[in-house]
Amino acid sequence: MAPQREWFEKDYYKVLGVPETATDKEITRAYRKLAKQFHPDANPGAEDRFKEISAAYDVLGEPDKRKEYDEVRRLGPAAAGFGGFGAPGAPGGAGAGGFHVDDLSDLLGGIFGRGQRGGQSRTGSTRRGTDVEAELHLSFEDAVNGVTTTVNLTSDAPCTTCHGSGAAPGTQPTVCSVCGGRGMKDDNQGLFSFSQPCPACGGSGVRIEKPCRICRGTGVERRPRQVRVRVPAGVEDGQRIRLKSRGTPGRSGGAPGDLFVTIHIGPHRLFGRRGRDLTITVPVSFSEAALGAEITVPTLTSPVTLRVPPGTRSGRTFRVRGRGVPSKVGVGDLLVSVEVAVPQHLSDEQRKAVEALAAVMTESPRQALGV
Ligand SMILES: [Zn+2]
Ligand SMILES: [Zn+2]
Repeated sequence: MAPQREWFEKDYYKVLGVPETATDKEITRAYRKLAKQFHPDANPGAEDRFKEISAAYDVLGEPDKRKEYDEVRRLGPAAAGFGGFGAPGAPGGAGAGGFHVDDLSDLLGGIFGRGQRGGQSRTGSTRRGTDVEAELHLSFEDAVNGVTTTVNLTSDAPCTTCHGSGAAPGTQPTVCSVCGGRGMKDDNQGLFSFSQPCPACGGSGVRIEKPCRICRGTGVERRPRQVRVRVPAGVEDGQRIRLKSRGTPGRSGGAPGDLFVTIHIGPHRLFGRRGRDLTITVPVSFSEAALGAEITVPTLTSPVTLRVPPGTRSGRTFRVRGRGVPSKVGVGDLLVSVEVAVPQHLSDEQRKAVEALAAVMTESPRQALGV
């Protein structure tokens, strides 16, 4: 879950009466005791207190949430993306009659020509990493069967030297002393009080005394990297596969972006593809088409026997079930189109035989055309 603004306003440890170092067990024990004590059934009128206790346990009772809560409290509101909101009791409210505006440009549609400010303040605080696009070329067979492979790409990644902190190895970013980690500074202008991104830390809420030399303190480095991709069976040409959180790392504790891999599928010597179905064109001789035959047809696995009925016209398509592309929704079929092959060269014997055939096939195939 995303950090809540209440997290900065409420000290859940205090609510439960436990130290910040309390173990999960101690937290649960404290919660149970208080919940019993302030349960509205047992103690009418204690509803608000009970709600408060429940809300505190809702966060502290789940190790993941608690970790996040501790983290955002440690870094301050700016790092959690609430840089624009004055902390409770912050000297944001201007004097009597004044009111606190976090970002006037949002309210007035940038009428003051400060439309950039909203963007900047957000840049300064938590920012999600950008999505990255990559291409992956697969063989026909790999696309049909599925494959685990690597995608090579060059993109922003957490700096390997400072592990994304931006601080030189052996040092840590420190909380900005100018804004106290909020990332914002209040700027009183008569009636209004603006929040500006803190000029000392650029809105990040942290200061880096000794920047990492490799990434110059950005925590991000552009480098080639390889990402393992599990391509499911039956992937289609042009399909985009989303790899969550494998894009560019976020800034100031923001979530990383996603990686989108666009699939390109190479051709096959024999087969074509129509979604889950495979297609193939198989030549048959005139006599096979006319008399009927059992022919052997290749598939992506073992060959199958196909019965061609007598009088099969050229171009007719037969469906061989279950010999297509496997996918989550089932296996497709193999569509076999037969094509009557006409010999390019005839031996004397063959020529005589065809001539003898022609002599007895007196009906014109163009009779229906009325000519
Ligand atoms: Zn670095
Ligand atoms: Zn600052």
